[in-house]
Amino acid sequence: MEKVLEVKHLKKYFPIKGLFSTKGFVKAVDDISFDIYRGETFGLVGESGCGKTTTGRAILCLIEPSAGEILFKGKDVVKLKGNELKWFRRKAQIMFQDPYSSLNPRQTVFQIIMEPVRFHGIEVDNPEEFVINLLESVGLNESHLYRYPHEFSGGQRQRISLARILALKPEFIVLDEPTSALDVSVQANILNILKDLQKEYGFAYLFISHDLAVVKYMSHRMGVMYLGKLVELGSSESIFENPLHPYTQMLLSSIPVPNPEIAKELKAKRKIVKGEPPSPINPPSGCRFHPRCPYVKDICREKEPPMIEVEKNHYVACWLYAKY
Ligand code: SF4
Repeated sequence: MEKVLEVKHLKKYFPIKGLFSTKGFVKAVDDISFDIYRGETFGLVGESGCGKTTTGRAILCLIEPSAGEILFKGKDVVKLKGNELKWFRRKAQIMFQDPYSSLNPRQTVFQIIMEPVRFHGIEVDNPEEFVINLLESVGLNESHLYRYPHEFSGGQRQRISLARILALKPEFIVLDEPTSALDVSVQANILNILKDLQKEYGFAYLFISHDLAVVKYMSHRMGVMYLGKLVELGSSESIFENPLHPYTQMLLSSIPVPNPEIAKELKAKRKIVKGEPPSPINPPSGCRFHPRCPYVKDICREKEPPMIEVEKNHYVACWLYAKY
């Protein structure tokens, strides 16, 4: 399988400015590594503030990484300039969470979709036909061509965003909570369109979400983030069937169960994530999860656990599994 993206030891620290000097750093993303392959969806989950959105934006160089390497099709994106940077900006796209603010209210759907096409100098024989084809591929049609964003529902606006992305023939798309502002039935439509497009064009997706059920539905592999760190990595199937990290176990046991009988049965076994995540300005020493972990040992407070492979392609950073 072709590796589209390699993230190596990525860090993003935000300085906290004092009156005369920097007072410290918010360690939003702190030394994380993972790969994404062609045709694959890699899910990134965790509580809000864990660093998943910062990771997506740093990968696309929308914010400058503090350290580490991001290779897109083998090229270090931080070092790209001129035409190569323009090529990267075209091939790697992002779909934002908010369908209400990501479209220019003064432009028609036709203008919205053609603007980046013209910016990137993509030759199109018949622009109208080109845009209509894109609209049809996301479940809209010709009648929407010259309408304005305020005339559409949230789900339709996300479809327009998606059509604009498709116009650039990307290979990698960051999906940053793309359906969390939408109704459940609309969510399912958009997710299915994303899946169909991936099958047809082989897109690699980084799917950022706090909704574990959605991540399970969408992702082939996934990473669990806690306070800027990746704590578990593996196929979605193995992580959902056999979560290894205590934090992952707690996150999974918080997924709502629709059947009240089963929900009652599970209630007794559930492990609740207690308390709030500590501050990323001064994260806890050793394992960052230790103040909330029911299995904490002395070593957890002193030393950061290494990421180790416990099952084939299933990795975890926890002293319950590593030798010390
Ligand atoms: Fe809990 Fe220790 Fe594992 Fe951290 S390393 S999750 S504190 S057992």
